[in-house]
Amino acid sequence: MPKDPWWDSGTSAWRGGVGPGEASVVGGEIRVTESATRSAGAAGADADVIVVGAGPAGSAAAYHLANTGLDVLLLEKASFPRDKVCGDGLTPRAVASLVRMGIDTGPVRTGPVRTGPARPAATARPTLAKGPRLPGAGADTAAGNADAAADAAGAEVEDGVEADSGWARNKGLRIIGGGLRLELPWPELASFPDYGLVRPRSDFDELLARTAQKAGARLHEGTTVAGVVRDERTGRVVGVTARAGTDREPVTYRAPVVVAADGNSARLALSLDIRRRDDRPLGVAVRRYYRSPRTHDDYLESHLELWEGKPNASRLLPGYGWIFGMGDGTSNVGLGILNTTPAFGNTDYRDLLRRWLAALPPEWGYTEDNATGPVRGSALPMGFNRTPHYTDGVLLVGDAAGMVNPFNGEGIAYAMESGELAAEVVAQALARTSDAAREKALHQYPEAVRARYGGYYTLGRAFVNLIGNPTVMRLATKYGLPHPVLMRFMLKIMANLTDPRGGDAHDRVINALCRLAPSA
Ligand SMILES: Cc1cc2nc3c(=O)[nH]c(=O)nc-3n(C[C@H](O)[C@H](O)[C@H](O)COP(=O)(O)OP(=O)(O)OC[C@H]3O[C@@H](n4cnc5c(N)ncnc54)[C@H](O)[C@@H]3O)c2cc1C
Repeated sequence: MPKDPWWDSGTSAWRGGVGPGEASVVGGEIRVTESATRSAGAAGADADVIVVGAGPAGSAAAYHLANTGLDVLLLEKASFPRDKVCGDGLTPRAVASLVRMGIDTGPVRTGPVRTGPARPAATARPTLAKGPRLPGAGADTAAGNADAAADAAGAEVEDGVEADSGWARNKGLRIIGGGLRLELPWPELASFPDYGLVRPRSDFDELLARTAQKAGARLHEGTTVAGVVRDERTGRVVGVTARAGTDREPVTYRAPVVVAADGNSARLALSLDIRRRDDRPLGVAVRRYYRSPRTHDDYLESHLELWEGKPNASRLLPGYGWIFGMGDGTSNVGLGILNTTPAFGNTDYRDLLRRWLAALPPEWGYTEDNATGPVRGSALPMGFNRTPHYTDGVLLVGDAAGMVNPFNGEGIAYAMESGELAAEVVAQALARTSDAAREKALHQYPEAVRARYGGYYTLGRAFVNLIGNPTVMRLATKYGLPHPVLMRFMLKIMANLTDPRGGDAHDRVINALCRLAPSA
């Protein structure tokens, strides 16, 4: 028999009530009657919505919720600025989410400066180079790339002045593999901008959290959420427990809806017994920052093959690598391995990174002396590897919901989009006049994320299974990369960049494939 819904409990979690309160601990969770949390409420702990975690998912959710006029509590265990292991790369899909948060994505960081009018931007055509010329060598020097970045921004900068907004802008993806080097500009679409960005997570995440705060969300830093609070009669989640401040005071916060945006650790989902699905892809990736002359690069660079020595004349290492110019004097360099690869789980990732970097041109500077921090790694939960996305008053967003794109390991865009989707659903739900109608509206969230990503992630799972096979990967690199039209198609599908309406033939094929694929 279904549990009583919370609205039948006589303790409407909607707004605080008064009366004698009681709290008991059941199976590690706190169960409360209405007034047990009033002490926290009196101290300002009650809210319309609690968002746990102020990464991109949580801050986007909090921003959009606050904009609808709701009272939002954003609880974050760290204090900003804080680091987050990431490649720091943002595709146009992520940029579109930033724009929807009203975040200014310009001016861009440039390299050596020049005066005079900006030159016309380079034409949006893929360029293919064969043979030993490697990025960063020859024409693509730091200065060359800086000029290109200034061009892309249409910037006119004075001598000796460097625009520094924290953003480094890129105009596409450079793919290195099979002895080829292919530059694919981001597609020109109505739905997305034609540029990507790079910014260290150490200040990117703070920018997003402060933006949510400015919109009205109440951000509590240094607040580690430990678990949920359930209404003791209905079992529905009506809040969270946390430890806050330097003295780690236990606190209880209460709200009728909780958004779990606590990242890959998914502590809140685990406390609801929502576990990781083994039938979904998972990646592991490591990265490190290095001072490098390649810091100004107007393409995100992806290495499909990791050679231990000379390309084609040494051992091929497992995994895929990236080099992203940060525009601040450093590069973010890293590699990832998927769980469909035989080497997954039995590889020393730090050593792998060291061996790959040792084989790259020394003038790029990826040496121990130039490292500005340690190698750090983390998991990439992909393709909905944690479901259900809504249960008992809790919505899962971002990494907590396993929303990383299996095609390219990108998670920020999906974290922000799912946060925004959750906000829309919650705002609609809280505006309903009956509790039953509110609950019905909240159940729309898993439907909405499945409608948006379900088919696409199913295709992504098939892709991950294919590229996990080294022979398939070798053939794909050898025969796929030399075909610019095919690669332009692949870029659109891998970065999930199409126009839903009025797009070109590639867009129509990709959209049809996503519609036809069974929803993940
Ligand atoms: C090596 C690596 C490279 C990557 N590169 C890229 C890339 O270049 N581009 C890209 O788009 N994606 C990349 N990703 C994926 C991306 O980092 C994630 O998908 C993204 O950060 C997910 O955002 P989120 O808000 O869901 O979670 P997170 O960014 O993990 O944020 C979760 C937040 O919740 C807080 N938190 C956790 N537990 C609690 C708790 N109990 N109480 C309160 N707060 C809590 C954390 O402190 C954190 O602030 C990479 C991942 C890795 C590991």
